[in-house]
This record gives sequence, C-alpha cells and structure tokens, in this order.
Amino acid sequence: MSYPTFMGMPLLSRRDREAVQLPFRIGQLNTITGSEIPQIRHGCILGEISGQSTSIFRQVSEQKKLRLSPSAVSEYENCPQLYKYRKIDKLPEPPSLDAERGTLVHTVLQDLFEFPSQERLPQTAFDLLPSRWSAQLEGKPELREMVTNEKEWLDRAQSLLTTYFSLENPATFEATHREMHLEDEFDADIYLHGYVDRLDIAPTGEVRIVDYKTGKSPKPGWEEKALFQLRVYALLYWKSTGVLPRLLQLIYLGDGRMVKSNPSMKDIESVEKVLQRVAKDIFISTEKDYWPPKPSRLCDWCFFKSICPAHNG
Ligand code: SF4
Repeated sequence: MSYPTFMGMPLLSRRDREAVQLPFRIGQLNTITGSEIPQIRHGCILGEISGQSTSIFRQVSEQKKLRLSPSAVSEYENCPQLYKYRKIDKLPEPPSLDAERGTLVHTVLQDLFEFPSQERLPQTAFDLLPSRWSAQLEGKPELREMVTNEKEWLDRAQSLLTTYFSLENPATFEATHREMHLEDEFDADIYLHGYVDRLDIAPTGEVRIVDYKTGKSPKPGWEEKALFQLRVYALLYWKSTGVLPRLLQLIYLGDGRMVKSNPSMKDIESVEKVLQRVAKDIFISTEKDYWPPKPSRLCDWCFFKSICPAHNG
C-alpha cells in the first residue's frame, strides 16, 4: 500500500498562560439550558469482539500507556480506521483550512484577555487579526498557497469574532486560565489529557469551562454528544482539584449559539465509564490489528479516502 505524503507541517505551539485575576461576577455564569437533553449516545464499535477478553487490556497496555483525549475518543468512535491512520500510523495530512481558521480565531480570543478589561472591545480583537495571521503563516508557510484570497479569509475571521461579541462581553469577567492543559494518570493503563480553551474561576470559587467552536452548533438532540469533550475536562479538573465545575459552555461562532450544562457527579461517572469502554476497545483493536472503517458523510472530508478499504473495495 502506498501512503499519501505531505511534508513540512510544523505545528503552532500551544501556549499555557494565566491571566491576572480580576473580579469576576458570578452573574456571568449564565442560565443553564442543557440539563434536559438526552444522555450521550456512545455505541460499542467492536461489538462482540470487545466482550471476549479483559486480559488483553493489561497485556497490550504493558507495552505502552494509552494516551486518551476527548478528540481521540471521538476519532475512534467516528471511525476506527481513521484513528489508526492518525494515531497509530501517524500519517501526515495537509492542513485543513477550517481548522486553521479556528486556530486564528482561538489565538485572537486568547490574546484578547492580555488586555485590560476596558480594552477588550471588538476593534481590539479585529486589530489583532493581521499580526496573529502573520505568525500563523510563519509557522506554516504552505498556508500562503492555500489561502488564495487573504482579505476574504480575514473578513470571515472578523465575522466570527463579531459573533463572539454578540454572545459574551469579555470586559465583564476575567479568564483565569487559557489553553489550560489538564492531565491525569487515569489508571495504570491510560493517560488522560486535554486542552481547555478557557477556564474562569469566580470569587465564590465556582468554575466555568468554556470551549470556542468556529463551526455551527449541533442539531437538536446532539448537544449531549458535543458536551462529552467538556465533561472529560470537568472530570480532569475534578480529579486534580476536587472541585466539580459549575458550568460547561460551548460557544458556537458559526451560528451564534451556546450550549450549556451543569455537570453532575452522575455525568462524571458516566464519562469515566465511556472512557474505560473506548480505551478497552482501542486496546483490543491494537492487539488484533482490527480497525474497521466506518463510512459516513465524514468520508467526503477525509484525506485518507483514496487509501481507505471502505472506498477501495
Ligand atoms: S474515508 Fe471514511 S471510512 Fe475511510 S478512514 Fe476516512 S472516515 Fe473512515
């Protein structure tokens, strides 16, 4: 089999910074809308195979700890074959313009909190765009070829930032942590980690976890699946501090919607079970070298479609 190649893709490094604490009004923690949504729908991908052995769990893991993150879990659940290409074979992929636009907007929203609260205005964010975009281009020069109309590109990013200001007023609270790396030795076989876009701690000690999305919000009924990522962060935060976050908040800049939820200990326990089950499936897949492709509409955006067994029968 010949694999596609794409060389020279340095990643922009993530920054882990803390802002100076300013008063944060708990009133900003918003109203909760996510509590009546149905439970997470996570099926068992390996079906009967996963029920065959628990010894594999230990056997495989003795070789190497499994690095698990919310994105790795989604990737495996969406398509084990795609997970293999990315996480096991580590095949290179070209940058995705949607992901790069997301990086640019995230960077501006992170850096906005470097400014004094009264200066966190739309124009401040817009003014940051050109320099942050230049830095991104320096890290990935191939983007120059891919972005054919720079004005349109920056206009779109500005439009997403405009939507952000219609949903939140960053002058009224302080972002305690941005790009916060949370990690945990989940168990003897699993290292769990993730990057939180923003974590706000109110003077009362209440915690809000926020994630920005540059796409559109999920269709009704799919909010719980979207919240899985933030519930993993809540689990990680709870494990490291003993504090259960009060609010989880997804901010969708693509259509100006927010999805919010109050995590409960029941949610945290449920997330732990999902992580254990998916980890077990991954260990078994690794042991048996069994990575079933799972065709879906995502295939149209999958870089590996040309080598995927599901499309090259
Ligand atoms: S083309 Fe579809 S089935 Fe194949 S690896 Fe990609 S997402 Fe999975």
